[in-house]
Formats: sequence, C-alpha cells, structure tokens
Amino acid sequence: MEQMLTMMIVDDRSIDRAILRGIFLSEYNIVEAGDGDEALKLLKSGVHVDIILLDIFMPKMNGFDFLRTIKKEEAFKDIAVVVNTESDDEDNEVEALELGADDFITKPYNQRIVKKRISNVVNKVIFTQVKMSYQTDTLRFVTQRDVLTGLYNRESFYKEAREFISGADSTCVIAVWNVDRFKVVNELFGSRLGDQVLRNIAHELVDLLKDNGICTRTEADSFVFCTTRKYLEEIMPKIDRVLTGQDHRSPIDYTLQLHMGIYEVIDPDMPVYLMCDRADMALQTIKDSYLVRSAYYSEKLKEDILNEQELVIEMEQALNNKQFFVVFQPIVDTKTGLTVSAEALIRWKHPIKGIINPGIFVPLCEKNGFIAVLDLYVCEEVCKFQREQLDKGVRIVPISINISRINFYRTEFSVKIKEMLDRYKLEPTCIKLEITEGAYQDNPKYMAQAIKDFKASSFQILMDDFGSGYSSLNMLKDFNVDILKIDMKFIDDLETSERADNILYSIIQMARALNMGTVAEGVETKAQYELLASMGCDCIQGYYFSKPISKEEFTSRLEFERERNCVPELPDVRRTILIVDDQKIDRKIISHMMQEEYHVLEATNGEEAFELLKNNFNSISLIIADIHMPKMNGLMLLEKKAEYLYLKEIPVIMITSSGERECEEQALERGALEIITKPYDSNLVRKRISNVLKLSETGNMMRQIQRLHEIYQEEQ
Ligand code: C2E
Ligand code: MG
Ligand code: MG
Repeated sequence: MEQMLTMMIVDDRSIDRAILRGIFLSEYNIVEAGDGDEALKLLKSGVHVDIILLDIFMPKMNGFDFLRTIKKEEAFKDIAVVVNTESDDEDNEVEALELGADDFITKPYNQRIVKKRISNVVNKVIFTQVKMSYQTDTLRFVTQRDVLTGLYNRESFYKEAREFISGADSTCVIAVWNVDRFKVVNELFGSRLGDQVLRNIAHELVDLLKDNGICTRTEADSFVFCTTRKYLEEIMPKIDRVLTGQDHRSPIDYTLQLHMGIYEVIDPDMPVYLMCDRADMALQTIKDSYLVRSAYYSEKLKEDILNEQELVIEMEQALNNKQFFVVFQPIVDTKTGLTVSAEALIRWKHPIKGIINPGIFVPLCEKNGFIAVLDLYVCEEVCKFQREQLDKGVRIVPISINISRINFYRTEFSVKIKEMLDRYKLEPTCIKLEITEGAYQDNPKYMAQAIKDFKASSFQILMDDFGSGYSSLNMLKDFNVDILKIDMKFIDDLETSERADNILYSIIQMARALNMGTVAEGVETKAQYELLASMGCDCIQGYYFSKPISKEEFTSRLEFERERNCVPELPDVRRTILIVDDQKIDRKIISHMMQEEYHVLEATNGEEAFELLKNNFNSISLIIADIHMPKMNGLMLLEKKAEYLYLKEIPVIMITSSGERECEEQALERGALEIITKPYDSNLVRKRISNVLKLSETGNMMRQIQRLHEIYQEEQ
C-alpha cells in the first residue's frame, strides 16, 4: 500500500486549521501546530513531515522566522512549505518565496485552488524524494561496485562472502584468478581493449557462478570468487577451459591464459581477506608454470612460505655471520680426464636448518635484491682463492661464477667485478661468468649487449643450462658466448630417448661449427660420459667425476693431478670402423692400418655385420665391406642397411677385385661412397678411407644441423 504523506498545518487560528484539515484529511496524515515555536518543537521531536502549510502572522514565532529557521537546518530544509497569506498581501508572498517557500495559498481558501496548488507542490516533493532515493541507490551501487566490471568491489565482496559462507550448508572455497602477463595485453592492444578483456572475464565468471557464488575484481587483473566446493568441482571443466585460454570471447587476437589459486574454507570465522590471501599464496606457487594452471592452498604451503619469509629476514645477518660459503665442482676435459676448470656454487650453512642449497634461496635473493650482494660475495671468495693459489705458485684453473640475470645487465655490477679483479691483481681469464639461458627470454637486447661488453673486457662467458628454455636455438645466432653448458635434462633423457641423443649430438656439432666449447652438466654415469665424449663434447661436469667439493678438497685434487701428472684411466672413446670380409687376412690388413686411430670391429659376412651394426650404430663411423661373401654379400648388405633410417648415414666403402667394373658400378648405385680394390695399395686405401670419413662427418654435421632446425621449427 502506498504510504500517506504527512502534512503539518501551522496556524494560530483553530478555525483556519480546521478548514484546511477538512480539505486534506482524506489524503494526508495531519499534524497541527499553533505557532512556529510549537511546529519547530514537533519537527525536532522526530515527527516526520512531508509538507507544511504555514500561516505568516502568528504569536511567539511568526511564519517568516519559522521558515528562516527550518531552511537553515539540514534535516528540515527539504520539507516543502506552502505559505498562507491574505489575498492582497503581495509583499509578504514575495518575501516568503524568497525565504524558500514552494508556493502560497490565499485566504479565504478556495478549496479547488488550494487542492490544485498543494497537489503541484506535493508532486514536486514526491519527484524529489524518488530522485533522492534513486541517487542513494546509485550511490550505494557505485560505492559497492567495481566501476569497470560492475562486480562487487573488494570491501563489499568481503561482506557478501562472509554472509555467503555463513549461510552455506556445505564447505566453501575462495578462489583467485590472475591473468598471465596482462601487462602485455595492455601494451599490445591498448588499455581500452585491455579494459574490454577484463569486462569479458568478469562476465565469464558471473556466467559460470550463476546463483552459486559471488565474485569481485580485486586488482587490475585479479578476480576473486566465493562458492561451494561442490559447485567448484562441478564447473571445473569449464574453468579449465577459461584458464587455458580455450573459452574466451576475446576482443583481441591473443590467447589469454589465467592461473587459479584456491583456498578451502576450513575455519569459516577467519576474516575473508585472510582467506583471499591464502588462495593468492597458492596461486603464487604456480604463477610461472605453463602446465599447472590451478593449485590448492595447504598447510604445507603455508609452512614453506613462512620458511621462505624467515630465510629472507635472516639472509643479511647470515652473510655477516659467515654462514654462506662456496664449494667448487671440477670440470673435466673429456680427452685427458684432467680438471680444466671448476664452477663455484654457493651454500648456506644455516644454524638450525643445516645446509641449504641455492635452488631454495637464490630465487628469494633475486626477489628481494640481496642477490647483488651475494653474487659479489661469491666472486670475492673466488678471487681470494685464486690469489692464494697464485701466491703459493701453483697451477690455477679458471673458475666460473654464476651471475644472476638481475646482476648481469647492470653496469655497476660489471664495474665492481673489474675493480675486484684489480684489487686481487688477477686477469679476467682467472674467472668465467655463467649466465643462465633463461635470461634471454627476459630481455634479449640487453643480454646481447651485456655479453658483448663483458667479452670486450676479456671475460669468458658460459651459457648455463643451455636447452632448458624455449629459445635456445634462436639464441645461438644472437649471442657470441664462448662455451655452452648443456642442460642436465638432455643427459637425464639420454638413456631412454633416441631423440635426446640426436639433439645432443647436433648441439655439440653446432657449437663446434660456431666455435663454441661445450660442457655437459649433470653427468652421473660412465655410459653417459662415454657417449658424450664420443659425440665430441669438450668437457664434463657431474657426479661421475666429482660432486661439488670444498676449497681444500679442490686444491688437493689439483695438486694430485699436478704431482702425479696423473691422467685418470679414460674409457675408450675412439670412433669405430666395421670391416666385413670373409677373408681373415684381408680383414687384418685394413684393421692394422686403422687401429691406432679407430676401434675396429670385424665381421665375416653381411649377416654378422648387420647384427653388429644394430648394436653399435651410435659409434660406428664407417663400414668397409667386401662385395663377395657367402650368406649375405656386400651388395645385399647395402640394400638391407638402406631399409633402416638410423643406419642410413653410416658411410660404406666397397671392396672389389681389380677389373670388376660392373660390380663397382652396382655398389656405387646402391649407395657405397667409395671403392677399394684387392690387392690393396695401402697408400691409396688410407687416402680413400680418410676422404670418406671427412666427407661423411661434414655431411653428418650439416644434416644434424638441418634436423635440429626442423625439430626447432616443429616445436615453435
Ligand atoms: P647450475 O649453475 O646449473 O649448477 C649446476 C647444479 O647442478 C649445481 O646445483 C650442482 O650441484 C648440480 N649438479 C652438478 N653435477 C650434478 C650431477 O651429476 N647430478 C645432479 N643431479 N646434479 C648435479 P646447486 O649447487 O644446487 O645449484 C643450483 C643452481 O643455483 C645453479 O645451477 C645456479 O643456477 C644457482 N647458483 C648456485 N650458486 C650460485 C651463485 O653463487 N649465484 C647465483 N646467482 N646462482 C647460483
Ligand atoms: Mg652454473
Ligand atoms: Mg647449469
């Protein structure tokens, strides 16, 4: 039912009040006052009034004074006032209107005119009231909402979420969405389209939640929602599509991807902002992961984060308390087995937590900037060590230092390193600098410049963890580094994946072609070592030779090698030649010729040769086969070999007897690269074998590089 408005009639004459009351009683709640003073008291006592009919001439407080007073009061100034005057009282009318009256009626009252005038004023009053209440609603909307998306803003979300959680009859969750690299979207497409993208995400979220939850945008590209665990599970397949960018009504040609952190509400009384923080903590742990798109908060996570925070607080003090120390991991030449270099690796000896590895604290130091101090500390420790060795007059080997990408670009950092070398009177060749491949993705231009600058100052640069990122091959042509350190990932895969084998070989060959040295990291077994050595990898670093060791152990190792001039027993890494001939004497002639440089395998016919090939295809560099043999002759062997892709590239030299032109032609047609004839002319045989080996090695290298490019293209 529509509410009746309240009219206050203020007049000292009861007869006039009665007339007006008679006119309006059926339409209004009527309140009466005998003068201004009484009327004011009524208003102040809290009586709600919508319109006042006010007589001018009254004792105590007259109409003008009353009008003046209420127009000054915030609470009453909007009440409509209609003044009653005598018919010929123009001056008073003007004054009343000036004081803020809305209209006037004249005595004696004409019912029709009075009703009409009052109704006009009242309509105005109602309109203003509706407008005001509309404004309050809008105001409420604006203060509760995020202007860009129309979702709840943070504060109202906290309130609404609290109500949702306390009203829910099953477990609730708070989830946070964050758009990956939203900055890029703004940079590429401008903030107007960026805003549209955010609005779309908001709509998507609202559509997903329907009536089963509430959501907000908390920061530029962060959305938070609250729903029940059950409903979240129900819509998870759809959410997955949103997170992986398969489900966007995007206004831009760009695959938007998101990450999600989830907190399951265990304690419903916890403040909602803390719940949001926890969901956010879960999100932070996967923020950089390409494959993992959502994660739950757990107590273990909280513990880890608290641990991390503790470490961050403690690290500066730890340096002063000498809790950081450096270990050295030898880098060994594959040909001599001697230590030719080492990598300095930092450790933290925590008084309670024990030895902490850099994988844990280096990323934290990179976040809080402490890495600038830490890398210089390692550099200084290495300089000190090298100076001590030189002062003792013993052999030193260059030691490589890991430089965080954060320091690598900073000129003041390189200035400090140079000053340090000067201070210890060391040449730049005493140290090497390792920069991780990942740095390329941050900023290729700065990286190229920094490498150039360091090299101009005679530092050797190693590219660490090569192959661990997505950009490796691109990088090689842009960066003129001295040495590639091949990532452990390839070494781990070696024994299980033939592809890893191929890629590794190609990387080594390519590095060679570009005049770069190679170090394979993470070599743990003899088999890995032998394979890498046979592929031509220059150096090895890994547990197979040595774990990271203390300064003292490293010194002893160098001394040991120097004193004994010791070359540790090296596995046989010579390449292999397969000789296939049914005549023992002919096999031996060639075998003697080659055995100094090559490891020689022998087979008496094609079948036997084929078995050997299958088991040793990785190491066999050349097949020398007689054309006439029992069981499987030379031509048949050529044909069979051609059926197998992995054998195809092994070159074949065919042995014929002099004067067998037709046989020679057939052999060359089936893919033999060269012919030697019996009886052997040893000079000619040697030359032909050497030519074929050279030819095939260059050909192999070109093919490998080509293949590597193809693999790379495929992966892009
Ligand atoms: P990295 O530079 O790639 O160092 C090689 C890591 O592999 C070292 O781990 C080493 O101990 C480990 N490793 C060596 N051989 C083997 C093996 O045969 N098998 C296995 N499984 N691992 C092997 P560490 O010392 O834990 O260092 C981890 C990473 O922390 C380093 O990777 C480097 O990126 C960073 N780091 C270490 N010291 C420093 C430093 O002083 N400054 C900076 N900025 N980063 C450092
Ligand atoms: Mg390294
Ligand atoms: Mg590495």
